[in-house]
Amino acid sequence: MKEATTDAIEQELAGLEALIGRARSRQMTLLAEIDRRQTPTADGCRSLAEWATGRLDVAPETAATLSRTARSLQDHPQVAAMLQTATITFDRAVELARLAAIDPDTAESGAWGWDVAGLRRLAARRRRATRQDERDVFDSRHLVMQPSFGDAAWRLWGLLPAADGTIIDAALTKRADELPTLPDGTRDTLTQRRVDALVAIAADSFGTTGSADSQTPIVSMFIDLDATTREAISATLESGLHVGPGALDEVLCNTKRQTILVANGQPLAAGLTTRTISPTLRRAILHRDGHACAADGCTSRYRLQVHHRIPWSAGGPTDPDNLVTLCWYHHHVVIHGKGYTIDPDSPPQRIRFRKPAGPDPP
Ligand SMILES: [Zn+2]
Ligand SMILES: [Zn+2]
Repeated sequence: MKEATTDAIEQELAGLEALIGRARSRQMTLLAEIDRRQTPTADGCRSLAEWATGRLDVAPETAATLSRTARSLQDHPQVAAMLQTATITFDRAVELARLAAIDPDTAESGAWGWDVAGLRRLAARRRRATRQDERDVFDSRHLVMQPSFGDAAWRLWGLLPAADGTIIDAALTKRADELPTLPDGTRDTLTQRRVDALVAIAADSFGTTGSADSQTPIVSMFIDLDATTREAISATLESGLHVGPGALDEVLCNTKRQTILVANGQPLAAGLTTRTISPTLRRAILHRDGHACAADGCTSRYRLQVHHRIPWSAGGPTDPDNLVTLCWYHHHVVIHGKGYTIDPDSPPQRIRFRKPAGPDPP
């Protein structure tokens, strides 16, 4: 990379985009042919998009764009030809094809000066939703949560009517904006904070908001312990998703979750679970800390949780000196999410945080 000039890199990037355009052009032709042969129906799929999702292993939205564009280009050979000769990029072809379906004149004349985002807005303005369109969207509304086992994560996608989506969008943004700043004064990105907002809103639906002793939803976690050292070997949620040591520490801070300890696959005697905080001890800690978050400058009483300063997994005892009351944000996001630690020199009820160390060595 050292010798290449910026010009050369830009040129190569543009060249690659042209190459992608040509490949997409070929893909459009072949998808149209699959469509003409009615292969998706023969394969038991409801649509070309569904077929493409499975066969090409692409996201449903990508498949929808591919199938819609493949069909539209059939009707607009001028746009198809420009894609094939790399006169336009694939994204521009997608938007022109979309525009052409609504307003062929605009697509074939004056739209060339618009950038891709502008074309998309133009198509949105030209398009008038009909009653039937609305009904179609309502009928196909869905929200999918798919566990991604390799990533120890969930993927979300869906489709919902414009007005409903706007409510959710506004609620997530409002809640995200209400989240405090991080201890160093910065904030995560809006898209990251919208995830935290969604989790908070979902957790609220299980119990009273803001109360000092609000309920945390019961999520069973199966923790496999080494029979001799009693160290956690693995932790699994009911969904089958694995969680790492960070989530495990957080769950062991929190009595309201149902934690099932197993050793070599066998459930352990209930005695071991008393290492987590008992309701009585929890009430005592909350009382000691004035039923508010003990982070310096934070007065939140929202979804208070009791945190082990030294994690249970690192041998931290479940006794008052090692326990501290934190709001949901400082517990879930700042400590267990982002890896901040409590500065041991800070006063017990006005704790300060230390920046997380770098990533774990491989
Ligand atoms: Zn904790
Ligand atoms: Zn707080």
